[in-house]
Amino acid sequence: MEQAGQELESEVVVVGAGAAGLWAAERAARAGRSVLLVEKTPRAGTKVLASGGTRCNLTTTLGPKPAAALFGRHGARFLDTGFRVLPPSAVRARFEELGVPTVEAPLEKVFPASGRAVDVRDALLGAALAAGARIVYDAPVERIEARPDGTWTLLVAGGRRVHAPRVILCPGGKSYPRTGTTGDGYRWLDDLGLEEVEPVPALAPLASPAAWVRELAGISIQGGEARLVDAAGAVLARRRRPVLFTHRGVSGPGAMDLSEPVARARAAADRGGPPVALALRVDLLPDVTSDALRELLLAAAARPGSPPLSRVLPCEVPRRLLEAVVRQAGVRESDPRANQIERAARARLLDALKGLTIPVDGTLGFDWAEVTAGGLALGEVDPGSLAVKRHPGLFVIGELLDLQGPIGGLNFQAAFATAELAGVAAAR
Ligand SMILES: Cc1cc2nc3c(=O)[nH]c(=O)nc-3n(C[C@H](O)[C@H](O)[C@H](O)COP(=O)(O)OP(=O)(O)OC[C@H]3O[C@@H](n4cnc5c(N)ncnc54)[C@H](O)[C@@H]3O)c2cc1C
Repeated sequence: MEQAGQELESEVVVVGAGAAGLWAAERAARAGRSVLLVEKTPRAGTKVLASGGTRCNLTTTLGPKPAAALFGRHGARFLDTGFRVLPPSAVRARFEELGVPTVEAPLEKVFPASGRAVDVRDALLGAALAAGARIVYDAPVERIEARPDGTWTLLVAGGRRVHAPRVILCPGGKSYPRTGTTGDGYRWLDDLGLEEVEPVPALAPLASPAAWVRELAGISIQGGEARLVDAAGAVLARRRRPVLFTHRGVSGPGAMDLSEPVARARAAADRGGPPVALALRVDLLPDVTSDALRELLLAAAARPGSPPLSRVLPCEVPRRLLEAVVRQAGVRESDPRANQIERAARARLLDALKGLTIPVDGTLGFDWAEVTAGGLALGEVDPGSLAVKRHPGLFVIGELLDLQGPIGGLNFQAAFATAELAGVAAAR
């Protein structure tokens, strides 16, 4: 490890030794360039260590196209080249080569077979160092300046300066700021006059103003489908993943994956715009149609000794959750017998079962957001090299880009794929 001096030089400088920075540094060093990684904190890959509940969901079992599609229309188009050059299967193969075999898990996840995020971090760091990259720690970059000769100077806290013809920026976003990512990169984008999409918390738990929601803390809906709806009932986004009730609202991938539009509405409301009028509507039984459910209820009502609702439903719904559904439907008994449910109440009950409405008015913010949505507008960057079009020699990768995927290894996949392209391009 190198002690930071007053003046440092390298052919390629990588700012931020996170997932993207470590990958890009290794790639550029392997291509024969001198590479210097400049890291703000005393260690590399802090978020890798914290990821996936310290197990690190490092990529997905999905193929490149369906994986890219989860980044939305613009994101998918932008990631097309990166995910073709470095598909999820190639990420797994690379870690296997580095001595970290991987295993598949439910919901299209991939983890190191050891279940240890530290193995992933160590493999990334070890590979970068073995390829010849050097690293300086405790070196927060404060400013980036273009020099008249077309090269770059980085001003590091404490008066140090780093010079390079090629600079790869990957300081992450501003989520989990306690890990070192406090949004420094956005300031540099501003200074460089680059277009940005407002950074907001994403993959964050949602806050709910409804007391009944918070009273269900600890209960989860495993097989449901969550839809984010506006005040008019229009569906803004949907995701079929577990939802967990918490003391502040709802969490779990089904809620967190839908948090970006909630964060944008919250940010607009905080600027004096209209109040947040959004709700999560959770279909508790997405595999059963309303018609089939109605038939089940009617058949049960016709049976002698008509059974209670809880025994008519095709799968078990936790008792307190079912009480909330029944209350939302305006039915007085907490577990009514099928033959006690009037026609109008039955329709409301079906609505509540197929769309339990949970009002949400914000997220728990950057402190609890797994990623930052927004960042450098994708139009500023060449998707084949990650070069910033208006600033030759500058590359932006990873979370600083306006790219965000749902939970499930997609964000590391995007960090690695963009790093692969930039590492090769910066070494060219
Ligand atoms: C709790 C948690 C769990 C997660 N789990 C997963 C998961 O299982 N799977 C998944 O795909 N994604 C997961 N993510 C998201 C994933 O961690 C990010 O998408 C990914 O780390 C982004 O990589 P990056 O290299 O762009 O940024 P980061 O990994 O955040 O790295 C940025 C680096 O830059 C450094 N830096 C910042 N500012 C400066 C500066 N001024 N000067 C020098 N260095 C600087 C930082 O210290 C950091 O080392 C998780 C995130 C969190 C917070």
